[in-house]
Amino acid sequence: MLTLETAQDVLKKYFGYDSFRWGQEETISNILSGNHTACIMPTGGGKSLCYQIPALLLEGTTLVISPLISLMKDQVDALNSAGISATYINSSISVQEARQRMDEARVGEYQLLYIAPERLESQSFINELRDIPIPLVAVDEAHCISQWGHDFRPSYLRIHQLLTQLPDNPTLVALTATATPQVRLDICTTLGINEDQTVITGFERENLSFSVVKGQDRLVFIEDYVKKNIKEAGIIYAATRKEVENVYERLKKKGMNVGKYHAGLSSDYREKEQTLFLNDEISVMVATSAFGMGIDKSNIRYVIHHQLPKNMESYYQEAGRAGRDGLESECIVLYSPMDIRIQRYLIEQTTHNHERQIQELEKLQQMINFCHTEGCLQVYILEYFGEAESEPCGRCGNCTDERIAVDVTTDAQKVLSCMIRMGERFGKTAVAQVLTGSRNKKMTDLGFEGLSTYGLMKDQTAKQVSEFIEFLISEGYILVGGGSYPTLSVSNKGKEVLTKKMNVMRKETVETKQLVQDDELFQYLRSLRKEIAQEEKVPPFVVFSDETLRDMSAKLPIT
Ligand code: ADP
Ligand code: MG
Ligand code: ZN
Repeated sequence: MLTLETAQDVLKKYFGYDSFRWGQEETISNILSGNHTACIMPTGGGKSLCYQIPALLLEGTTLVISPLISLMKDQVDALNSAGISATYINSSISVQEARQRMDEARVGEYQLLYIAPERLESQSFINELRDIPIPLVAVDEAHCISQWGHDFRPSYLRIHQLLTQLPDNPTLVALTATATPQVRLDICTTLGINEDQTVITGFERENLSFSVVKGQDRLVFIEDYVKKNIKEAGIIYAATRKEVENVYERLKKKGMNVGKYHAGLSSDYREKEQTLFLNDEISVMVATSAFGMGIDKSNIRYVIHHQLPKNMESYYQEAGRAGRDGLESECIVLYSPMDIRIQRYLIEQTTHNHERQIQELEKLQQMINFCHTEGCLQVYILEYFGEAESEPCGRCGNCTDERIAVDVTTDAQKVLSCMIRMGERFGKTAVAQVLTGSRNKKMTDLGFEGLSTYGLMKDQTAKQVSEFIEFLISEGYILVGGGSYPTLSVSNKGKEVLTKKMNVMRKETVETKQLVQDDELFQYLRSLRKEIAQEEKVPPFVVFSDETLRDMSAKLPIT
C-alpha cells in the first residue's frame, strides 16, 4: 500500500521541496486511493505536482492531456532533467518520431506521456493507448471541457469516451484554476467525477495588489511604469493584435527590452520570444491572451491590462501570473469605457450562439463592475469565485484610496426613479440624456421631455451621470439586461434606496463634489448643530457628524 510518506519522499527526492502546499496532499492521496478527483487551485498553486507525484508512485504510464503544445516540451524537459522519464506526442514532432515514442511507451519506457487533446480524435491512436498500462489520466487546464469556460476545446469532450476504452480502469484527475461553480459542475459531470471529490484551495493571493487606473493616457502610463520597473519582469496584456503592436512599438522606440506575442506571429517567433522571456532576456512581454497559459515563470512582478479583459475568469488567470514566487507584485487594469465597445464587438464576432453571447456579455458586465466598484478589489474577486465573507485586503487600489466617501443617496434616487419613469427599457446613455435634459431628437420624439425627472441633474454633464450610473451598476443598485442593447432596471438593493431604507456612499472626485445630500430636514439640523450641542450641554469639542445628524433627521417625526 502506498502512503503519503512515500509521496513526501518523492517530493523531496525529485522536486527538492520539503513540504506540500495547501491542497496538494489531499489531491495526491485522493488519487492514490483511486478516486476520480477535481483539483481547483489558483494559477501558480502547484497543480502539476498533484499528478506528477502519483505518476512516479503508480505502476505504468500516466497519461497527461494538455492543451498547451508550446509548453509540453518545457514540462517534459524539466521532468527529464529531474531524472524522470517523460515524453510528449503532439503536432510539433514528425510522424516517425511519434511512432517511435509510442513504441517506447508500449514497452514501459515512460512514467508520463503528454498528449494534445486532438490526438483523441483518432480511434487508431486510442487503440494504441490500449496497449499501454495506464493507471492515471490527468486532464490539465480542465476548464477547456466546459462551454462556459474561456477556452473551450471540443476535443476535451472525447476524454470520457477514452476512459471507457482503456482496459486498466484508470483513475482520473482534472486540474484547473477556473473556480466558477458552473465550470466546476461541468467538469465533474462531463468527466464522471463525484462532486464530493473536489479539492479546492483558497483563491486569495496575499502578495498581489490589484488596482484599476482610470482617466489616464494609457501609453504614457505604461511607459512610465515600465521605466520605473525597468529591472523587473512584467506582462502587458492587450485585447487585440493591433494594440499589442502599438504598445510594443512604443516601448521598443523608447529602447526598452520588450517582446511581443500574439496569434498573428509565426510559431517560431512566438516560441523564441517566450523562451527569451522565461530566461529573463526580455523583461516586458506585450501580448494578447494567447500568451501565458500554464507558463511557469516565478518572478513576474507586474501584470498590466492595457484594455479591459473579457471576463473575470480570464482576468484572474492572467493577473495571477504575477508573483508566483510569493513576493509582492502588482496587477493593474487600465480602464477606459471605450473598451466595453471593443470587448462587445469581439464577443459578437466570435460567439454566434445567441444564448452564449448573452452569457458572455453578462460576464463582461461583471468585469466592468470590477472597474467601477469602490469596495475591496480582492474581496470582489473572491466573491465572484464563490468565496464569500472575506475581509478587505488593505492593499488594493480601493483599500488604499484615501478619498472620503460622501452620501449620494439623493442622486441615486434621481437616477433610479428616472429609469422607472422611462419604463426600465433603456440603456445608460438614454437615462443620462434624460436626466441632464438633453435636446437629443430621439429623446424628445419619445416624449421624455414631459417626465418629471427630465433635466433633474442638468448641473452635471451626461458623461458624469453616465459614470455615476456605472458606479450604481457596479455596486448592485442597477441591473443590466443581456443582449446587444443592454437595458437598465432597478435591483432589490436599488428599491431599498428608493424607499430610503439604504444610503448610497461614493468616493467623490473633486468635480462631482456638489453631490451632497440636500435633504431639507438634514440641512435644518445642520444649521442647528451648534445649538443642539449647547442645549444638551455637551462639551464644545464634541461635534455631531453629518452621519449622526442624518440619523437624527430620519428618526424625527415629520409634523
Ligand atoms: P499551476 O499549474 O497550478 O499553475 P505549477 O504546477 O506550474 O502551478 O507550479 C507553480 C510553481 O510552484 C512551480 O514553480 C512549482 O515548482 C512550484 N511548487 C509546486 N509545488 C510546490 C511545493 N510543494 N513547494 C514549493 N514549490 C512548489
Ligand atoms: Mg499548470
Ligand atoms: Zn482591498
